[in-house]
Amino acid sequence: MFNVIIAALIGAAAMAAVLILGGVVGGVYQKVKKRRADADNSVTTMAQVLHLAIQGSPTGVVVVDISRDIILSNSQAHKLGLVYERRLNDVGWEVATKVFDTQEEQELTLVLPARRSGAPDTIVRCQVAPLSLVDNRFVVLYATDESELARMEAARRDFVANVSHELKTPVGAMSLLVEALSEASDDPGAVKHFSESLQRESKRMSTMITELISLSKLQGAEPLPDMEPLDIEEIVTAAVRRNSMLSEQAGIEVNVDCQPGLVVKGDRSLLVAAVSNLVTNAINYSPEATPVSVTAVMEDNDTVAIRVTDRGIGISVANQKRVFERFFRADKARSRATGGTGLGLAIVKHVVANHKGAIKLWSRPGTGSTFTIELPLLEKQDQPSKKAED
Ligand code: ADP
Repeated sequence: MFNVIIAALIGAAAMAAVLILGGVVGGVYQKVKKRRADADNSVTTMAQVLHLAIQGSPTGVVVVDISRDIILSNSQAHKLGLVYERRLNDVGWEVATKVFDTQEEQELTLVLPARRSGAPDTIVRCQVAPLSLVDNRFVVLYATDESELARMEAARRDFVANVSHELKTPVGAMSLLVEALSEASDDPGAVKHFSESLQRESKRMSTMITELISLSKLQGAEPLPDMEPLDIEEIVTAAVRRNSMLSEQAGIEVNVDCQPGLVVKGDRSLLVAAVSNLVTNAINYSPEATPVSVTAVMEDNDTVAIRVTDRGIGISVANQKRVFERFFRADKARSRATGGTGLGLAIVKHVVANHKGAIKLWSRPGTGSTFTIELPLLEKQDQPSKKAED
């Protein structure tokens, strides 16, 4: 149904374009004619106007006749693989012959394998229709590149499947715990144990839901609403403070060293959350009592680099490419034990992208990791102490 509407729209749009062009061309023609003397390459005929409009169209257009000769095609049709060496693609021709027979519009989806290995395939959707209802010798094919749409749809399906799977684990655990709790009602020790586990699982689930909501907001197309000048030192301090209980429990000292006066434009709560996620990970993936450091410096005069460094377990080269994916964890059991959701770094990646920044990772298993958030510097404020020295 959707495709039929699209087809109707494309048809209507094409017809409207021709009508508008027809109307406009009359006027344009007169103006163009006047200027002809001035320019050698002027557009002077209706045929030229139509040729340019069709050649420049983002939709691939091919008109083919009953003996498979191509009457007209534009460069986008060649780019989308509909025409190759002046021949209509075999699958396209197969559908076109059906249209010649039935005089009824058809649809066609072409999957063009990527030329480079690892690159995504190109998905081309075509409307194939009689060119004219009164002359059945020609068929027109309109082709659009729908690769991006197909990729987004696949990512959406993937996301829904991931989320359902991830939510099933705590829900399953909670239902088992409730069962165990009701069976152990006369054992206070067991009741305490099961209810604590129940609390942990429900907290994990609520954290996951909160993070999923913020991820979906970050991935939305709308610009961030609360962009304001922010002091980086204040952001880092707030992020570290948020982790004070965790670091205390692990006996880990978080050392902060920020160059003062660095200002970026951003959303405070998102940037604090991003830095805080990195600090939480640095603590969670480090042995007890090893130090973690957070630094912020200006680089290349226009960038702020916030670095979170730990001397923890590190990340293998193969996993370094994957840790920013939603729900990816190098070690599921360890992530679970720390209450991890596998969403922390995906959030960091999106927050940074929404602030036109970059996220970098250096890591070596057994040595530790450094995550660097780079953000565009809004300004470098002069420091009062420095002014006094001057
Ligand atoms: P999680 O909730 O599992 O911590 P994240 O998205 O924050 O999810 O991180 C994804 C995975 O990346 C983690 O499960 C862990 O395997 C790895 N990771 C993240 N930060 C570190 C770090 N500082 N040191 C070692 N591994 C890390």
